Amino acid sequence: MSDSYKNNIFVVGLMGSGKTTIGRILARKLGKTFIDSDHEIERRTGATIPWIFEIEGEQSFRRREADVIRDLTGQEGIVLATGGGAILNAESRAYLKQRGTVVYLRASVGSIMARTAHDKNRPLLQTADPRRRLEELTEQREPFYQEVADVVIDTGRPNVQSMVQTILMQLARLECQAAPDCMTQAEPSMTPASNILLSVDLGERSYPIVIGAGLLDDAELLARHVDGRKVAIVSNTTVAPLYMERVRRGLQSCGKEVIEIVLPDGEEHKNWSSLMLIFDALLAHQCDRKTTLVALGGGVIGDMTGYAAASYMRGVGFIQIPTTLLAQVDSSVGGKTGINHPLGKNMIGAFYQPRAVIADTDTLDTLPARELSAGLAEVIKHGAITDAAFFDWIEANMPKLMARDKASLAYAVARSCEIKADVVRQDEREGGLRAILNFGHTFGHAIEAGLGYGHWLHGEAVGCGMVMAADLSRRLGLLDAGAAARLRALVAAAKLPVAAPDLGVPRWLELMEVDKKNEGGAIKFILLKPLGSPSITTAPQEQLLATLAACVETA
Ligand code: NAD
Ligand code: MG
Repeated sequence: MSDSYKNNIFVVGLMGSGKTTIGRILARKLGKTFIDSDHEIERRTGATIPWIFEIEGEQSFRRREADVIRDLTGQEGIVLATGGGAILNAESRAYLKQRGTVVYLRASVGSIMARTAHDKNRPLLQTADPRRRLEELTEQREPFYQEVADVVIDTGRPNVQSMVQTILMQLARLECQAAPDCMTQAEPSMTPASNILLSVDLGERSYPIVIGAGLLDDAELLARHVDGRKVAIVSNTTVAPLYMERVRRGLQSCGKEVIEIVLPDGEEHKNWSSLMLIFDALLAHQCDRKTTLVALGGGVIGDMTGYAAASYMRGVGFIQIPTTLLAQVDSSVGGKTGINHPLGKNMIGAFYQPRAVIADTDTLDTLPARELSAGLAEVIKHGAITDAAFFDWIEANMPKLMARDKASLAYAVARSCEIKADVVRQDEREGGLRAILNFGHTFGHAIEAGLGYGHWLHGEAVGCGMVMAADLSRRLGLLDAGAAARLRALVAAAKLPVAAPDLGVPRWLELMEVDKKNEGGAIKFILLKPLGSPSITTAPQEQLLATLAACVETA
């Protein structure tokens, strides 16, 4: 693959497909120079396109066009919007294919009619029946567009931003596919050198997830998702001494002005006063709407920074750099942001998606063992609810995961992100399906609240909660005893608790009531039917009591 492969972007497509508009935005986002071949022809000849058509005829125009394409494609670092007919010339097609990545904007005749209705600058459409003409042009040119295209984008999308986002993601995928150690889906065969590029597909809110070792030192990767000049890195007193310096240096080397915001560490600081500390710093440094926030830390920092980004000046961009396993496999993906209120956890917040998630698996080296186990609970959860084969893999590789084997951790993170991204894509705002990600959480939340937050880590409570949910699934005849036993053994192998604390039956029931997702009705449990797929259902009191009796550790 030649260097220029990454360096030039050529946009092709019929007239009125949006090549100039899209090309301009792409160039700005990618830091390249935008050129429109029609404008270049007009500049060189000193005449307008309709005029050249009229005086010299189409043949002569095509010759001029071919010259311009040959010259312009010879440059480096450009985004070139070509004239709709440029691909008719075989030599031009060859240049476009060799000298850059070709993006074909495929538009329907109807949408082009709408866009060009009042445009007198389209000589080819000055006929009695422009629709018929467009249909002919489409038929004639479609094979040529397809021949040169690396990426085909249908333009029938709600807006330009969504199209640009999709193109950027596709370009990043191509770049990844061309690179030696980059893959675009999670595979158990990954090596410690592998980088993975995944995408969360949410239209204009789409974003990449990059997973790999040593990513904190990839300055260009960090800077790519920062639009403006100012970046505020939000971290805490534990993580900042470990990783702040590297992230700051990288961003500065790319010409960014960096503001550091270091908050106190701990779930008890996921509150209004920490949020205010972020806003204080942003305002004191005159951060405007172009500022990008970077969350450098675990789920607490990620949730707070995301919420700050959602509300500062009604929304600025933010990047997640998760440094705990839990944040890498769960909280950094999906766009739930927020803070706690004294009357309830995560009660104040917003759905707000990041621009990118960059998960450096090297940061897991410094994570306390208990936090590693807590993250593994959510990994097990992803396998249990959606992917039996992944569950098998976790089972077989638990010793490696506990030993922090890099390649195993990278696969566990990547597969978890794929599963979560897929659920979020289908149900971004938790209208239904997304609730399956709460497997083990109804029991888990009761444990956390019943013992008082901070006694058990969230992941520990979820680990035990999954064992209880599997027990209940078995009692309801949804799961066989063998599968329930496997889940229990896997949770234990991750050094997570499998016996629930004795809160007293009335308190248990009361705490689980609080968690019920549908107002008025009975508690909805996320259960397994069978291992590897979820079932959302209510449970008779009798079976629920039996599960509590079986799982609660009595002194
Ligand atoms: P955390 O952010 O408190 O991190 C755990 C501890 O590890 C902290 O002391 C932290 O400073 C430290 N730490 C972080 N990275 C480290 C590293 N690389 N080396 C050494 N120490 C490091 O906890 P968490 O488990 O990451 O996240 C829990 C939070 O995430 C909760 O507030 C929960 O509500 C939230 N959460 C959110 C979502 C979501 O969808 N947004 C999902 C799950 C959990
Ligand atoms: Mg959770």
